Parts: sequence; structure tokens; C-alpha cells
Amino acid sequence: MAVYVYGHKNPDSDSVCAAIALADLKSKIGVEAVPAVQGNLNPESNFILEKFGVSAPEIISSGAGKQVILVDHSDLAQSLDDLKDAEILGIVDHHKLGDVTTSNPLECWIWPVGCTCTVLKAMYGFFGVEIPKNIAGIMLCAILSDTVIFKSATCTDQDKEACDVLAKIAGESDLSALGMEMFKVKSAVEGTPARELVLRDYKDFNMSGNKVGIGQLEVVDLSILDSVKPALAEDIKALKTEGGRHSVFLLLTDIMKEGSEMLIASDDESVVQKAFGIAPEGGKVWLDGVMSRKKQVVPNFEKAFAG
Ligand code: MG
Ligand code: MG
Ligand code: MG
Repeated sequence: MAVYVYGHKNPDSDSVCAAIALADLKSKIGVEAVPAVQGNLNPESNFILEKFGVSAPEIISSGAGKQVILVDHSDLAQSLDDLKDAEILGIVDHHKLGDVTTSNPLECWIWPVGCTCTVLKAMYGFFGVEIPKNIAGIMLCAILSDTVIFKSATCTDQDKEACDVLAKIAGESDLSALGMEMFKVKSAVEGTPARELVLRDYKDFNMSGNKVGIGQLEVVDLSILDSVKPALAEDIKALKTEGGRHSVFLLLTDIMKEGSEMLIASDDESVVQKAFGIAPEGGKVWLDGVMSRKKQVVPNFEKAFAG
């Protein structure tokens, strides 16, 4: 029976590339493994897979009766709805430990680094398996994406070292150029429905019993979003109501200015002031230096909701 390796809902490039890489590694150490995704790929991930000639993973919608390995998440809210009917064999991740539990011992690789693919690079080394050129290319791109070309607060020396090695294997010499090429693809929003943009990189969290959604769009210049901003603000209000959520926040991150404008739809906007010490105006607030949802946004909100 094949083991399914899959990342979180609303798959980002790390979720996709880590699933592909881990399935490759597992296959080479004698475990039949299939990479999978929970939904369609975003334009950035499509660009990466096309660039290195790697085919897209199959879509998985149920875990019932399957053996699975989770990558890039360990939160129930971000996993398969029927995960309880699957057997979890392992987790490879770089987020805070989520609320997934298991009935059997499992193989866990959870490191405080900028990207799951950085952990995977180390796993290839641990098992003595050579990283194929095309897989090195997609892992490299995933790390550049998750660390925002090494600018994010989540980026560690291990991420940079992994990229040095992966770049050599993939034959890529200019990482800033590769990263910018990727972020330009990511910045293209014209003609895309607001809901699709809101959900492109979106996660639900349970914060002290409140359902809180946080989305993020990373662009090379915030002005790219000027024309779609009103529609985005409307859509997060609708999304909040539809899902019975307390709040939906959308981070519009300018990777050159290194900060984020946060659009807010909330039953209680004062959580924003509590979390960041700045009062929002007109349903939004500029957060200087904030680029990482995981490190600079989620913990602040969790504290604000708890207290
Ligand atoms: Mg991710
Ligand atoms: Mg990641
Ligand atoms: Mg990200």
C-alpha cells in the first residue's frame, strides 16, 4: 500500500515541493510513496514545476484507510477533513507543533527553520540519498519562496546553507534573480477573482476557541494591489460571515519595502491593537517590518485572543 505525502490546504510551493521531494526520498529507501496536494496549485507553484520539468502531484481529498505523512503542517484545521480515518506515519514540518495526534509512534522531523524543504535537504543527507537535479531545483525555489529570498524573519543559516548546496545541484547561480522571477509570477493578480486571491495562501486557526483566518499575498510592490484592494476588503468580510469566523485578516506584503498592510474583518477590531500596539484605521493597518505570518503575526494574535 502506497503512503500518501501531502501538505496543507491551499497548497503553497513548500507544501507541494516538500511532498514531491519526500515521496522521492521515501521511494529510494524502499517505501512506496505518492506525493499529493489538497487542491489546485497556485501560479507560483505551477511556474516552479514547469521550470524544472516536474509533474504536479495528484489531488487527495480523503485519507480514509490510507497511510499518510504530513508535510509543512501539523494542524487539524489545515489537514484532510477525515484525517482521523487515516494512519499518520510521519510529519516533516517547520511550524509550531499543531494539534494532530497519533495512535502509533511516528517519524517526526520538525525543525525551527524557514522551510520544510530545508529539513528535507537534511533528510536526504541522513539517508545518504542523492538529490536529483530537478528536485533540487524545486526545493531551492520553495526555500526562496518561504524565506522571501532570505528576507523573512523565519530565515536561518540552515536555509541559506541548504540553498547553496541545492543551487549547485540544480545548476542555478543567481538566486536573487531566480527569486525575483518567481515573486513576479506570484505578484500577478489581474483578472483573478478576489476570493481566489484571499484563499491563495490562507490558513484557519483556532485561537482560544475563536475561528480566525489569516491570508497573505506577497507582491514586489504594494501598488500592484491598488485596483483589487476594495474587492479584497469586501471578500474577507464575506468569508468571515460564511465560516462563522471571529476574524479574517489579509496580509498584503510588500517584499521590497519589507512590511505588510493588513486588511481586517473582525467582530472585535481591538484584537489588532492588542496584538500589534497600533490602532487600525478604516479596516486596515500598516505593519512595518512584518513579513512572516508564522513568526510575526500568528503568535501576536494568539496572545491577544488569550488575554
Ligand atoms: Mg506552507
Ligand atoms: Mg513552509
Ligand atoms: Mg509563505
